[in-house]
Amino acid sequence: MRDQRTTVLGYPRIGPDRELKKAVEAYWAGTIDASRLRAVGRDLRERTWTDLRDAGLTDIPSNTFSFYDHVLDTTVMLGAVPVRFAGLDGLDRYFAMARGTQGIAPLEMTKWFDTNYHYLAPELGPDTRFRLDWKKPLTEYGEARELGIETRPVLVGPLSYLLLAKSTAETTAETMAGPATGSPAETGESGGEAGFSPLLLLDDLLDVYAELLERLASAGVAEVQLDEPALAGDRSVEELKALARAYDHLGGLSHRPRLLVATYFGEIGEALPVLAASRVEAIGLDFVAGPGNLAGAAGLAGKTVVAGVVDGRNVWRTRLPAALSTCAALLGLAGEVVVSTSCSLMHVPLDLDREEGLPEGLAFARQKVAEVVAIGRALREGPEAVVPAAAARPPVNARVRARLETLGEGTARAGHTARAALQRAALGLPLLPTTTIGSFPQTDAVRRARADLRAGRIDQAGYEAAMRAEIDSVIALQEDIGLDVLVHGEPERNDMVQYFAEQLDGYAATQHGWVQSYGTRCVRPPILFGDVARPEPMTVRWAVYAQSRTDRPVKGMLTGPVTMLAWSFVREDQPLADTARQVALALRDEIRDLEAAGIRIIQVDEPALRELLPLRAADQAGYLAWAVGAFRLATSGVSDSTQIHTHMCYSEFGEIIGAIGDLDADVTSVEAARSRMELLDDLGAAGYARGIGPGVYDIHSPRVPETGEIEQALRLAIRAVEPERLWVNPDCGLKTRGYAETEASLRNMVAAARKVRAS
Ligand code: GLN
Ligand code: ZN
Repeated sequence: MRDQRTTVLGYPRIGPDRELKKAVEAYWAGTIDASRLRAVGRDLRERTWTDLRDAGLTDIPSNTFSFYDHVLDTTVMLGAVPVRFAGLDGLDRYFAMARGTQGIAPLEMTKWFDTNYHYLAPELGPDTRFRLDWKKPLTEYGEARELGIETRPVLVGPLSYLLLAKSTAETTAETMAGPATGSPAETGESGGEAGFSPLLLLDDLLDVYAELLERLASAGVAEVQLDEPALAGDRSVEELKALARAYDHLGGLSHRPRLLVATYFGEIGEALPVLAASRVEAIGLDFVAGPGNLAGAAGLAGKTVVAGVVDGRNVWRTRLPAALSTCAALLGLAGEVVVSTSCSLMHVPLDLDREEGLPEGLAFARQKVAEVVAIGRALREGPEAVVPAAAARPPVNARVRARLETLGEGTARAGHTARAALQRAALGLPLLPTTTIGSFPQTDAVRRARADLRAGRIDQAGYEAAMRAEIDSVIALQEDIGLDVLVHGEPERNDMVQYFAEQLDGYAATQHGWVQSYGTRCVRPPILFGDVARPEPMTVRWAVYAQSRTDRPVKGMLTGPVTMLAWSFVREDQPLADTARQVALALRDEIRDLEAAGIRIIQVDEPALRELLPLRAADQAGYLAWAVGAFRLATSGVSDSTQIHTHMCYSEFGEIIGAIGDLDADVTSVEAARSRMELLDDLGAAGYARGIGPGVYDIHSPRVPETGEIEQALRLAIRAVEPERLWVNPDCGLKTRGYAETEASLRNMVAAARKVRAS
């Protein structure tokens, strides 16, 4: 009997101690040179290959490494570099495309499907000409081979590449790229206003893929993985035809490696018969996010199925018996079954063994590889070969459960118009009130105080004194600038999710559990493992202290339930909706405590509301219902005169635009600086009739906006929104900015608001 094959679709690439981040940032700072950076990259790749081999995988991927982003790598490989980078080359050009340089805007950064990873969107237009310009997959295959390790190079599949691209006709107004949200591909808008669809480039693109596949075959590559995650979303007939054409063409090449088309992040529905009818040898299916893929597998008799039964996106141990029975069922349907992860393991931390004090039942990337190997062994030797781990028992909080049962939907507040009148009377704000989104720049002093506390150089009292001093200066500055609604500045928050997770029961923090968010930015998502409860108030003392320093209203600042889930690893033994309600209940208590302590405006940030939106339209309404319900449960416990704000950091609302009103917040602030206020019309058309703070300048860039520009933006806004509803604020928090530009920008913003008010 042949060996049972086992593999993973990808692996963390940042290194156990974020070596990649450190090396790339050192290169940017000029403290190491290109050859040193390349050596670090090579070392990280070698460690990955040898680890995967030593763990016992039969099939090992390569070309999963990247200095910044694998979609960017693909763009450079294909020679699809926008002309504005023409004067640059090598690593400098590469990083300029990622981050911009002296007056050259970077590629736009956008979320990778429904994950918290961000990729750099290709810019494709009628003039794009592809050519094989960088042979990275060949080079890395060769490196592994030198170590005696045969690998399967991983490429972004041609269809997904085109669907992830922006048509250049759409990008003209874009300048700076922050971690923007929502890809054109997800929203099905890849056609672009100018009518150019990147799909028109398919044939040219396939020629380059064909050349690459031939070269890989000549170098000895037996199998290549082509990632097509776009198939987990709704695909049009035209897109499915393109899929068929792509794999007819590549499958029909006479000299090529075997082809594995890897799909992940959900069910692929109509795409499955298309792939089944093509000449590709192997199809990767995600049975974790897409259990329904099993029903479609009946048509795969002649194919190899790469069975994604170990979750690549969450940190829980696999239920081995269930995974095993999925694989066993597939054995009867497919030509061959390869045990695999559902998607790349780059979305989970590397190694649980380095952690201490975490709850039971976890598995990080290395542990998941061991699970894949164990399932492979059990398929070959019988189920006795795997010892099913005892299911973890998440701590139950009976009080929280009982309260949620009696609370139901929460309490209804009065209608918005009535509330608005009460709030106007209570707050006495001018027309076009000015405010900020919450955070002020995180100074060295603030970071030092945090580090000193951690290292024991100062005690809790010393730390709190440092935070109060910072709040004093932030409040004084805002008064001096003349803002109407002040904030405490969030100096005590390292991160808007972690800060709350650390204080809530049911959440745990890792020591080394970093995952890549984009480029060199890594995050350490907390783990939500049990019933969530709030043992004590979390923000009240800061808000109250800030309010004690000023007569103007200070806005309390919280992170909403959806964002608390989206940026954490969340338990899977109950629906997300139930977990969201537990978080919402904790926030509800916090909000009432803030109100009782005299805080009259409370903002609940939901920047991730759109991120968790299911990829398929059919699943979206169900999600929005519980997401909105959780927000309302959190925010509906206050009196009608207390004003609830929310904030979202994007302006392309697409399918969630209706939900913005359903949240029932009194004021919503959103990113609009980059979309020239167009979204106000969209919001109006969707029936949104409450307070709105369209960001009047872009905080993702250090540029200081002129008063005149902001004034113009406000005048544009007033055309779409009655002045009584309009708020004036930047488009996001200021924590990544410096004080000099922040102060100058806010002064201009206040001046602009005054001018418009006066007219
Ligand atoms: N209140 C948060 C801040 O200002 C909001 C951050 C966000 O929207 N991502 O930093
Ligand atoms: Zn924001």
